[in-house]
Amino acid sequence: MKIIDTKKDLLRVRAQLKDMSIGIVPTMGNLHKGHLSLVQNSLQANNHTFVSIFVNPKQFGENEDLVNYPRTFQEDIQKLKQLDNEDGNENSIIVFAPKNEEEIFPISHQTSIEVNGMTDKLCGKSRPGHFRGVTTVVYQLFMLVKPTNAYFGKKDYQQYLVIKQMTEDLLMQINIHALPIIREESGLALSSRNQFLNSEQKKKSLTLFKTLSKLKRDFLQNKELPQIEISNIKKSSDWDYLEVLDANTLNEVDDKTNKYILAGAYKIGNTRLIDNIVFQANKNND
Ligand code: AMP
Repeated sequence: MKIIDTKKDLLRVRAQLKDMSIGIVPTMGNLHKGHLSLVQNSLQANNHTFVSIFVNPKQFGENEDLVNYPRTFQEDIQKLKQLDNEDGNENSIIVFAPKNEEEIFPISHQTSIEVNGMTDKLCGKSRPGHFRGVTTVVYQLFMLVKPTNAYFGKKDYQQYLVIKQMTEDLLMQINIHALPIIREESGLALSSRNQFLNSEQKKKSLTLFKTLSKLKRDFLQNKELPQIEISNIKKSSDWDYLEVLDANTLNEVDDKTNKYILAGAYKIGNTRLIDNIVFQANKNND
């Protein structure tokens, strides 16, 4: 497994991989089974997989958890090495872990990439500038790696839609894949932020997925949007948002909607967790 920490080395390594199928999995590290499922999918479909590990300051707001965000580089490398060995082909994984912020955002950097519209909803509403930070860094990673395929988790469903929109609008010719949310047995979606929860808070966190699941059940049973139920639940200040939207556009549901998203952001102490369920009204899931 190769580990690279500069753009220059990345470009050099990439130039040696002409005519190969290349996958990329952008991450902020602290890898868990959710991230690793993306890497496994990429390994299966591509000759080489770039895994980026970069805690991107531009996607954190001023009062958010940038400083406390868990950084576990050595453990991450061990997990990736194991996958690389299991893959059987030597050196399938190339880790790109920029050695510092300036490697990606030098002082001279002045350009942002911004998707409009869709980024005003859900997490975009409560985290202004967040998606601009995401697309600005992912654009750079895409330009450096020139991947054939890029892998994202449905855990951050809005992020996946925003990146798909960016690649389409900018004619980037990269296949964007969205993979299922990996959960604990309890239903809690794996997240690097789960480790901030104490055992009491962990119990409380189950409310998020339970609520989304119940709303979906009620919706399918009653064949009616659960708007009243949602507005009752949202009376609790623990909810940053809880919404049902068209899963293709993130617009309000209308006659043309064929895929729905129930999405929630739930606050427990200083930790904010997000989760969602995407489904078709006549099927159990998407
Ligand atoms: P992050 O490191 O949090 O930026 O996440 C990197 C990628 O892993 C994103 O595409 C996430 O959507 C994805 N991811 C995070 N958690 C999960 C999960 N529980 N299941 C599937 N994918 C996930």
